Amino acid sequence: MATINDNYLKLKAGYLFPEIARRVNAFAQINPDAQIIRLGIGDVTEPLPEACRTAMIKAVEEMGNRETFKGYGPEQGYAWLREKIAQHDFQARGCDIDASEIFISDGSKCDCGNILDIFGNNNTIAVTDPVYPVYVDTNVMAGHTGDVNEKGEYGGLVYLPISADNNFTAQIPSQKVDLIYLCFPNNPTGATASKEHLQAWVEYAKANGSIILFDAAYEAFISDASIPHSIYEIPGARDCAIEFRSFSKNAGFTGTRCALTVVPKTLTGKTADGSKVEIWPLWNRRQSTKFNGVSYIVQRGAEAVYSEEGKAQTKALINFYMENAKIICDKLTQAGISVYGGVNAPYVWVKTPNNLSSWDFFDKLLNTCNVVGTPGSGFGAAGEGYFRISAFNSRANVEEAMKRITERFTVA
Ligand SMILES: *Cc1c(COP(=O)(O)O)cnc(C)c1O
Repeated sequence: MATINDNYLKLKAGYLFPEIARRVNAFAQINPDAQIIRLGIGDVTEPLPEACRTAMIKAVEEMGNRETFKGYGPEQGYAWLREKIAQHDFQARGCDIDASEIFISDGSKCDCGNILDIFGNNNTIAVTDPVYPVYVDTNVMAGHTGDVNEKGEYGGLVYLPISADNNFTAQIPSQKVDLIYLCFPNNPTGATASKEHLQAWVEYAKANGSIILFDAAYEAFISDASIPHSIYEIPGARDCAIEFRSFSKNAGFTGTRCALTVVPKTLTGKTADGSKVEIWPLWNRRQSTKFNGVSYIVQRGAEAVYSEEGKAQTKALINFYMENAKIICDKLTQAGISVYGGVNAPYVWVKTPNNLSSWDFFDKLLNTCNVVGTPGSGFGAAGEGYFRISAFNSRANVEEAMKRITERFTVA
C-alpha cells in the first residue's frame, strides 16, 4: 500500500472556523429571528474596480481573436506587469528592485507555502504568536516541526510572542534562527512596524545569515507616511529578505487571484556542505517547473491597478474599508473596550474586557449583540484574551453591529 506524508497527521484538526460555525448555528437554532452580523471575515466584500474589469473584458476579447490570442505566458509573469510593479510599488519608494526579481503568481498564500521547496529541512524557523496560520501549517506539512502540544504549539518552531506589552512587535530573538516570517501590516493584530523595528530585523538577519520572509499583503492600507510599505525600504534588505505581495486585499482580487513574490538576485543561502548559493535561480527553476503562470486575462486586470483610474479606484476601496475600521475603533472605545490596530490595517484587535477568554467574549458578543468575530486564541496561544474584528464588510453591517454593541454591551 502507498505510504502517505505522515506530517499531515501532525496538523491540528481545523478547529477555529468550524467551531465558530458550530456556535453560531446553535445560537441561530434557538434564536431563529436574530439578525446575525459576521465581522469575522478575512475576505473582501466590495466589487472589483471598474478599471480592472474593463481591462479583463478587453483581454477576453483578445483571446477570441487568432491574431491576439495568447497561449502559455512566461512562468514568471508578463514583463509589462512586472515592470509596472517594479516602478510603482518599489522604485517609486526608493527600493532597488528590478522587474526581473518579481515573480507573478496566483496567490501569496500559495507562495508562502511553496517557498519552502527551495529551503533545506534543518532550518530553525521563527514565527510570531499570534500568527497567520499558513506559515505554521506549511512548515508542519514539510516536516519541519515536531508534534503539537496542548497549547497548540509545534515542537521545533521558535514562537515570538506579540501583545500589547511589546506594541505587537516581536522582540528580536537572542538565539540564532534561519528563517523568520514577518507580516506587516499584521493579520490578525492590525499592527505595523516602524523603520527602526524592520532595520533591527535586517541587522539581525545579516548578522546571523537568516532570511526574512516578509508578507506585505496589507501594505496598501498604510496611511501613516513614516511606516515602510516594503522591507526593501530598509538598507541591506536585498541581501536577507523575500517579500510577498498580493492584489487580493488592495484591489479585491481574492476571487480573481493574482499576487507576486520578490526574490532579489543578491540573496544567498548555503548548501549542506556550506558553500554559498544564489536563491533567485532556485525559485526561478521551481516556478518554471511546477507553475505555468497566471492567466493573461487576470494579469491584464492586475496591470490596470497601476493606471490613473485603477489607482483612484483602489484608493477608494481602501478608504471605504478604513472608514469601517475607524467606526469600529471609535464605537468600541466608546463602549469602554480597548482596541489596537485598525489605523493602517483593516483589522481591529480587541482586548477582551474583564480578562474574559477569547471564546467567552465571542459567546457574550453573540448572545447580547448577535455579532460574530474571531477569537484571538485561534491564531496562537498568545492571542488568548484578544479578539479580531474585520473591517471587510458593508457599511450598513458595520454601523448596525456597532450600534448594538454601544447599546447592549456592558463591560462589567
Ligand atoms: C489575505 C492574505 C494574504 C493574501 O493571500 P492570497 O493568496 O494572495 O489571496 C497573504 N497573507 C496574509 C497574512 C493574508 O491575510
